[in-house]
Amino acid sequence: ESNLNPNYCFENFMEGESNRLGRSAGMAVANKPGGTSFNPLMIYGGVGLGKTHLAHAIGVQVKDKYPDKTVLYVSTEKFIQQYGDAVLKNNNRNDFLHFYQMIDVLIVDDIQFLSGKTKTQDAFFQIFNELHQNGKQVILTSDKAPVDMQDIEQRLLSRFKWGLSAELQAPDYETRINILKNRLYRDGVEVPEEVIEFIAKHIKTNVRELEGVVTSLIAQSAFNKKEFSLTLAKTIVDKFVKNTKKEVSVDYIQKVVSKYFEIDLATLQSKTRKRHIVQARQLAMYFSKKLTKSSLASIGSQIGKRDHATVLHACKTVDNLTATDKQFKKYVDDISKKLSF
Ligand code: ADP
Ligand code: MG
Repeated sequence: ESNLNPNYCFENFMEGESNRLGRSAGMAVANKPGGTSFNPLMIYGGVGLGKTHLAHAIGVQVKDKYPDKTVLYVSTEKFIQQYGDAVLKNNNRNDFLHFYQMIDVLIVDDIQFLSGKTKTQDAFFQIFNELHQNGKQVILTSDKAPVDMQDIEQRLLSRFKWGLSAELQAPDYETRINILKNRLYRDGVEVPEEVIEFIAKHIKTNVRELEGVVTSLIAQSAFNKKEFSLTLAKTIVDKFVKNTKKEVSVDYIQKVVSKYFEIDLATLQSKTRKRHIVQARQLAMYFSKKLTKSSLASIGSQIGKRDHATVLHACKTVDNLTATDKQFKKYVDDISKKLSF
């Protein structure tokens, strides 16, 4: 009833530079829930980088060490739904709050989904305060750092920053090799070293894909009664790389562009007319038009609530500047490279 997945444990969570801070903070929290300054512990990062896994691992370890403590893992979507159900029935809002306020270690996954849900945010605020005041541990995950979260009340955001925010990044080559080997070992399959290296070299952005490739490889070679050949691995990796290219989102483009210019997302989306920020914003619009299927209107609304004419103007400006300004062309080339992983 903790909703924990025992396979998502620390032993199966390979350590690397990309996750060292989050992993060790998670360990510290698991060994002393509520007793460290990492409260809340906020784990954030892109899709498929291990947030859910790490969040479970903390819970699993707490349960192991302190069997009497109540641990609860809940996705934010489920939390929102439960809250909705509770308020529909008379006075069950209090029961809902009490239920959550009894928990020793509360893990809430993908907290960014609270965005715009003011009523549920209020309820979460009350729960959070009660738990925190009583030395209970809160663990949160999010796809963004608290500073970049939108439509979440300031008082909640400031609490998210009370403890420690640890980013999970894309794993480096070594870590990808370790993840692959651990995964294959658990599945009891042997794959030639060169195939493992090939996969690790080409699938760089997220662990879920790395695992997807392994699953396909195992299925395909069993189906064709073939060896785990490099040729087969190449076909599978090719398919994955093509699929991910299609999946670039406006959100992702904005992140890449902000990071490239070393400005934060809020600044990129702000109304400021500072030249370098305007250019960054226009580049985000240009690449969104080029690489996603989103309409001009939708791109505009996602990049700081602009209209479609602004996006169209941005695309033209970028085309012009690329043709006339060498430095600007370099920006376009650099960002293109970063977006075509
Ligand atoms: P997120 O919640 O960030 O989208 P998940 O936690 O669902 O990502 O991770 C996606 C998959 O990758 C899961 O199957 C998880 O076990 C695996 N994974 C992620 N990071 C690691 C790691 N460091 N070691 C081993 N497996 C990992
Ligand atoms: Mg997740």
